[in-house]
Amino acid sequence: MIFGDYHVHSTYSKDAKTTMQEILDEAIAKNMRAIAITDHCYYHMYGIKKGQLSEMYKTIDKLDQQSNVHVLKGIEANLMNQKGEIDFPKNEQDKADFVILSYHKSFGKGFGKMLAHNKMKKTDEKTIALNTAAYIKAMENNKINMVGHINYVAKVNCVEIAQYCKEHNIYLELNGRKNCMSDEELRAVIGTGVQFIITSDAHTKERIGDVRMGLTIMEKFDIPEWQIANLNKLPDFSKRK
Ligand SMILES: [Zn+2]
Ligand SMILES: [Zn+2]
Repeated sequence: MIFGDYHVHSTYSKDAKTTMQEILDEAIAKNMRAIAITDHCYYHMYGIKKGQLSEMYKTIDKLDQQSNVHVLKGIEANLMNQKGEIDFPKNEQDKADFVILSYHKSFGKGFGKMLAHNKMKKTDEKTIALNTAAYIKAMENNKINMVGHINYVAKVNCVEIAQYCKEHNIYLELNGRKNCMSDEELRAVIGTGVQFIITSDAHTKERIGDVRMGLTIMEKFDIPEWQIANLNKLPDFSKRK
């Protein structure tokens, strides 16, 4: 059984429909032990606004007191460019319990940003190497606990990222809405011994805890139970190196 869902969006993400209270109620109803509320950060088209973080985290602290379900103060940060910059400032990172690093196509407006993204969307080998290096730089310089849906729009060397994650006790996501790794990539990534977290990436109440896609991958590729950090156990973020 999945003990915690670590990728859930509340109405602070403009593309999601569930309030934070509804997220907790749903987690209780589904017998979960932990839930991370991980809204899109500042740079995303549907992301939170500057100044909203403290209000969000105050609400989450209150929800955390309401029941036995541990509610984590999360964020889904955006990789912004090939320099490895992210949109979650360093001075705010300590406020979060859990940070996802993801790449999205729904980025903030602006010609310069568009150019930076167009560069990342190419699929030639040089672009893949630069995108991979950008992810690694972002992990080196920031508090990242999980890498979200890799290979989505920006292609990377999945194995290199998985190896870095394994060495630094960062989790790799098996996302409940999109798997962008080929069978071959998945097999190689599993072979690195990286630990996965399977999530829903829910934007609606009904989808909270819906990790069928991750479980199907687990079954198809024979991923052993120890390698899924939130299956019949909870991940340990204190081991991040
Ligand atoms: Zn995402
Ligand atoms: Zn998401």
